[in-house]
Amino acid sequence: MIKISVMLVLVSVIGFAIMHRRTDAPQARQIPQSRAQPLTQPPHAPAEVPTSPANPDDDIVETRHTYSGPRRPQALHSSTPTASSGKVAYLTFDDGPSGSTRKILSILRTYGVPATFFVVGSDSAEGRALYQQIAAEGHALGNHTYSHDYKAIYRSTAAFRKDVDKLGRLLESCVGYRPDIIRFPGGSNNHLSWKSGGRGIMYRAAKAVQDDGYQYFDWNVSSTDAAAPVQDKSLIIDSVMSASRGKQSIIVLMHDNTYKTTTVEALPVIIKRLQAAGFTFGKLSKNSFAFHFLEP
Ligand SMILES: [Zn+2]
Repeated sequence: MIKISVMLVLVSVIGFAIMHRRTDAPQARQIPQSRAQPLTQPPHAPAEVPTSPANPDDDIVETRHTYSGPRRPQALHSSTPTASSGKVAYLTFDDGPSGSTRKILSILRTYGVPATFFVVGSDSAEGRALYQQIAAEGHALGNHTYSHDYKAIYRSTAAFRKDVDKLGRLLESCVGYRPDIIRFPGGSNNHLSWKSGGRGIMYRAAKAVQDDGYQYFDWNVSSTDAAAPVQDKSLIIDSVMSASRGKQSIIVLMHDNTYKTTTVEALPVIIKRLQAAGFTFGKLSKNSFAFHFLEP
């Protein structure tokens, strides 16, 4: 019995020593294996599909910027009377209307600057009033889908069209026309869409909306105001100014969200600094300067 116990102890000790050598010695061979591991996964694994209509995902998808330029060069300036020469800035506000909309409108009014609001569905008296005020004050309204619900809208092109159409009808009942400009929630190269619609969904959706007569717009300057729930004001300003450098036409991504107070605070500074940098301001239209991440 004692002999067996001694044997067992010996076996355990020897076994432990062997295991130790195995975990130490082959480590150099194991590292490449663990390094190779991520390559078996998609380079941009889809994240959780957000459920909040005003979400911070619009800013995390700038993975591939393919310049497509204006589709109709002769029409480049037709819709931007302030842009007959020099640099043009298109300020865009996504996800409104919200508690910040009137503040944004007030600042734009103060500086006499037009902008583009890519709105979502808000079928309340307040929402309807805000759509009307945006249009009445001379800004462009764009379709950002009614629900902004990635899981629903990116399930198929039919689902996407249905959601866009729902907002189009609401806006038409409020302001008398259906916007023919679109911004995809998350941008045209977002990968969150893959979860419900598969990898090709953005190509199909982009083709579908263009077939339906819409133009879609991504951005070539991010304010980074979606990178944090409440982004630092100076970071918003610096991001816009640094990304604008060297560009002739800029489409600036910002958000119209009740809680994004620093976007509102940064706006007057951004307008003044862009003006000082030689920019005039335009609003987007179907034939204006367009920037696409994705070229279907
Ligand atoms: Zn959005």
